[in-house]
Order: sequence, then C-alpha cells, then structure tokens
Amino acid sequence: MRDVAGTTQVTLKRGSADPEFFRLLGELPRESVVEVEGTPKLSEKSHRGVELFPTAIRVVTRAEVPLPLGVVDKVGADLDTRFNHRVLDLRKPAVRAIFELRAAVLEGFRRAFVERGFLEVETPKLLRQGAEGGATLFRVDYFDRPAYLAQSPQLYKQMLIGAGFERVFEIAPAFRAEPSDTVRHLTEFTSLDAEMGYIDGAEDLRTTLESVVLETVRFARERLGARGNPLADGLPVATAPFPRIPFATCEAWLGRPGAEQDLGAEDEKIIGARVAKDLGTPFYYITDFPTAVKLQTFYAGRRDDDPTLTGYFDLEYQGLEIASGGPREHREARLRENLAAGGFDAANFEGYLEAFRYGMPPHGGWGFGVDRFVASLAGLANIREARLFPRDRYRLDP
Ligand code: ATP
Repeated sequence: MRDVAGTTQVTLKRGSADPEFFRLLGELPRESVVEVEGTPKLSEKSHRGVELFPTAIRVVTRAEVPLPLGVVDKVGADLDTRFNHRVLDLRKPAVRAIFELRAAVLEGFRRAFVERGFLEVETPKLLRQGAEGGATLFRVDYFDRPAYLAQSPQLYKQMLIGAGFERVFEIAPAFRAEPSDTVRHLTEFTSLDAEMGYIDGAEDLRTTLESVVLETVRFARERLGARGNPLADGLPVATAPFPRIPFATCEAWLGRPGAEQDLGAEDEKIIGARVAKDLGTPFYYITDFPTAVKLQTFYAGRRDDDPTLTGYFDLEYQGLEIASGGPREHREARLRENLAAGGFDAANFEGYLEAFRYGMPPHGGWGFGVDRFVASLAGLANIREARLFPRDRYRLDP
C-alpha cells in the first residue's frame, strides 16, 4: 500500500488470514484505492518499518486496467506520455519530490523577501497593452475589445515604487506566446519579480538578489533534508558574492570581442563551463550589458558614468539564465525618449508615465524564472518537468 508518506507492507499469512483477502487482493488492479484495518507489527523488511496483518479490507475505488502509465515500473515513459497521463506520473515518488522542492523554494523566497522588508503584491494579468509590446503577447477577447495576458508585472511593480511601497515582490504567472519550442521556455511560467526603491546602482540589487537566493537554497536544503527528499543532496552550496563577469569578458571568451551581440543559449553554456572551471561556482552574474544589447527595453536605466552601458545584469546558474534585472529609468523625460526610440506610442503608457511625474525614486529590480530555477536545482533537462501541468506551444491538456 502506498500513500503520501511511503509504502506499507500488507501481509497475508496462509492459514491465519481470511481466504477471501487472497482472492480480493489477488485480482485487484494496481493503483486501486483500498482501506485496510489490521494489526501493525514492527518489521525491518517493510519500507515504513511496520507491516500490517489485515482484519478488514475495503476496496474504495478500483483502478481501470491497463494503466496508461506505470507508476512503479522501472521502465521510463517518454515525456509526452507522462504529461498526457500526468496524474499517474505525479504519483511517482521521484516526481513528487520535484514539487516538494518547488514548494520549499517558494516558501524560502517568501521568507527571505519578507525578512528584508519586501511587501508581497499581486498585479493584473489582464492588460490593455503588454509591457514590451511585440509578438510574444497572447491576445484574449475582453468583452467588446482585445486584451492581453501579462508577460511580466514590470510596469505595475514600478508603479508601486511610485506609490511609495519601496520594496515589493510578486510570485505569479507570466504568459509568453513564444513561438519557439525549447527545453527552457514555457508559454505559462511562474515569475518571481522584485522591485526596490532608493537604490544606489545595480550592486544594491545584486547583493540583495544573491542573499535571497542563497537563503532560499539553504532553507530548501533543510526542509527537504528533514523529509528525506533525495533532491536535498543535489542542492548547491555556494557563497556570496557571486562572481560578476562583465559582458565584454564574456564576448572575449566567446572569441567575438566588441560584437555587442546578445548571448544565445549555446554562448551561455560555454560561459557557464568556463566559470565552473576557473571559479568553481554554479552562480554568477553577467554584468554591464551594452546599451546596444539591452536598451531595447525602454524602462532600462542608462548609466550616468558610461552612457554606452546599462546597469543590467543576468543571474546565471550553470550556464542558464535564471534572472534578469537592473536599475530602471526613473526620469520621465528620458523614459519618453526611450519609448519614442523604441517605436512605442507614449499615449498607451499614460497610466505608467503618471507614476513618474509626482516623485519617483531611483529604483530597479529583476524578473526571476521559478520554473527554470527549480528545473536546474532538481537536475532536470526539461523545464516542463518542473511544472505540474506544463503549457507550451503544443500543449493545453491536461
Ligand atoms: P530568454 O532570453 O532566456 O528567452 P528573457 O530575456 O525573455 O529570457 P526575461 O524577460 O528577462 O527573459 O525574464 C526573466 C526570467 O524569466 C528569465 O531569466 C527566465 O528565468 C524567465 N523566463 C522568461 N521567459 C520564460 C519562458 N518563456 N519560460 C520560462 N521561463 C521564462
């Protein structure tokens, strides 16, 4: 018998057990739900240290045969079959372990943010206009007009800085109509967004983010360790500060100095391998993105000391981008310039721009991909495995 805590052996002894029990259990399909009453005995043979000698057995629900997906079989099924029959797949203890890790990571983040004076907020997911516009927005019918699913809480979390909240974070779904089909993109993912006011440059953001990440991993390790979850042992042991690697250094490593070309997944892997070899750490920041690479995002702040660079950075884990952030532009006039340069109509952003007109402190923040992080920590090759019911370009069921 298996339940959420593990398996318990039910033992029928010939001669002493009711012969009816042999007949009942002999023909009962695997995965059926049963209720067993009996006498427990300590037993070293049994997974939970007890075996049960039944006095009554009741079949609550019979499982259909054949099972579309084996739960205890050693042979693996392909990902599509697993997701098509996800409820059975989730019964596997190794799969459930991923979601215990995920829950511990979410709880760890909440604790770490609250301790640092961040307020948890929730912003709208139905929007008249997407944060960055473009092709990756899902359009929905909103009564007699179109609306869009939020791809990020970006503009709202900045508005909350304008509202005087100073430090906010949000853990919520983000939607991206990514036409790509990769192992690190979903169409619905969980974004952990934070925004901080009165910052003194990007370092304030990076030191906060790294301390939050390390505390979260520590919390998850303890929580999982206490429950005997095998994923606890794979969690990284790292220390702050994470290395800061300027974008220009990455370009040199990639053999294209000064190319000002954004980093692709393969580039990131090369950089990750180099950092692991030279610095021996899984976490690192890529910093000082050139304006030419990151200023397509109109809300990104330009650096006063060097206008060709932004304060933007990516947080990487073993060659995969986990988070991206930086100081924002907090001056309305410059924001309008950036919007115009990006080909946006400022009239669509009036609610956002108003937040900058009546006193807006310097601020910045980041967006952090929860699913990518959990997948990486659990050593999963595909981000889909870190979600209960993943959504991608082809999958809307179950
Ligand atoms: P990428 O370049 O890898 O597509 P991005 O630059 O579009 O990511 P951001 O918009 O900066 O990503 O979002 C911040 C974080 O959110 C990313 O670092 C990543 O962890 C996560 N993220 C972004 N898009 C997706 C997606 N489609 N599926 C899952 N996670 C995502």
